[in-house]
Amino acid sequence: MMNVFKSPLLLLLPVLLALGACSANPATGKQSFTAFMSPEKEVQVGTEEHPKMVQQFGGEYGDRALKAYVRNLGLSLAKTSEMPDLPWTFTVLNDTQVNAFALPGGFVYVTRGLLALASDEAELAGVLSHEIGHVTARHSAQRYSSTVAANIGVQVLGVLSQAAGLGRAGGDLASIGANLALKSYSREQELESDMLGVRYMTRIGYDPQALVSFFDKLRAHQAIEAKLAGKGASQVDENNILSTHPRTTDRIQQAIKLAQQNGQTATRRDADDYLNRIDGMVFGDDPEQGLVRGNVFIHPTLGFRFEVPDGFKINNLPDIVIAVEESGALIKFASADAQEVRNAGGMEKFMRHKWGDNFSLDNVEWLDINGMKAVTGTASVWSGKGNVDVRRILIEQNKDTYWRFQFETPPKESARLSEALRRTTYSLRAPTKSEIANAQAYRVRVVTVGRGVSVADMVNTMVIPDLKADWFEALNNLRPGDTLVTGQKIKVIK
Ligand SMILES: [Zn+2]
Repeated sequence: MMNVFKSPLLLLLPVLLALGACSANPATGKQSFTAFMSPEKEVQVGTEEHPKMVQQFGGEYGDRALKAYVRNLGLSLAKTSEMPDLPWTFTVLNDTQVNAFALPGGFVYVTRGLLALASDEAELAGVLSHEIGHVTARHSAQRYSSTVAANIGVQVLGVLSQAAGLGRAGGDLASIGANLALKSYSREQELESDMLGVRYMTRIGYDPQALVSFFDKLRAHQAIEAKLAGKGASQVDENNILSTHPRTTDRIQQAIKLAQQNGQTATRRDADDYLNRIDGMVFGDDPEQGLVRGNVFIHPTLGFRFEVPDGFKINNLPDIVIAVEESGALIKFASADAQEVRNAGGMEKFMRHKWGDNFSLDNVEWLDINGMKAVTGTASVWSGKGNVDVRRILIEQNKDTYWRFQFETPPKESARLSEALRRTTYSLRAPTKSEIANAQAYRVRVVTVGRGVSVADMVNTMVIPDLKADWFEALNNLRPGDTLVTGQKIKVIK
């Protein structure tokens, strides 16, 4: 694997040298190990990492109104905290995964996948308050310090790069910020953040039980993910909010009790306003990032589509598309930088020497894929667990656009999959006009339940292909057997 983490680490040396003493934290009252970071340094680190985070998690999402809504809600919570004067920044990421995280210095992120799951303002306020708690308790700074000290980030990076496995140009898959965002907090830190979260949200009237109702949604969502994912996809999905924020319902209730010893009650949920705000929001893949539609991956903006064999599940990640079969076979698809192809001395040299991992390729030959020039080669590679048969294909769409497939199959599966993977190679082409016209995003729609309308009626209006009923229940915090109330507002995906 490429050691792309090397240069950021070297840049951190001045931070390591600037040792400060342990100091009492204003939010928790505890002495904390943030020896490597002054509060000023935290802001500086957050400011440096912020643009990389936004880029790596799909860019910012939403029109001006939605961005302002989340920012203003976040700011009103942060103003009640022990650090009201940090340059707090609240960002919605154009990411379909359900996640939230914070960087040192007051940078808080929620994904649009998380916004779709929340049902009222109190649930979103709970998530934002919890993340604010990680900042004010300086957990993010502590993690940053320990990441630098123990060099753990390099291991996290290794996992991410292996998932990518294409040695992407520039190799900037994991900035320090992304490493931090995907690292797990301790259970003690989670309890502390929940207590602080309850403190901040109740100060402006939000019902802290929203932490529990949203946690139930997260678990329902995780159950859907587990059903959807083939076993082999676990490496792709393991960095979700439940693994980075390890909690249980009991622990959240405990935090609520501990934080509410003054007996104050807060009951604000604000469902209607919240649902109006997210009505029409993109759900699942954004066409700008390419769409997964069954066995087809289509990217209307970049102008290509391809198909994977039956039994493969497609995962659309920011820099790579990975399709996984239960056998462990993988299809990886990504771009190749045209300048790097030229610098390498052409397509074959790039494929042989500059792809990423260095192993020698056999059976190199040139292909014509729907009028596009392509070069392919094969190798048998030791993966650490066993041999893997690898086929690479580099395709020239035009002089500025190159695509690459990498097929990885366990040797005992290679013969079975050979013809199906060949069809995948030759399925790469520009989409037709009607395919582009049909490549529309799914959207969250808020509807009012009419008289006599059942759960099954509403489930039938959902356009997503899989697990409609599970999704409907998760999005609306319903349990099997629950009924709908006339006039109730609910979310469906259309
Ligand atoms: Zn947390």
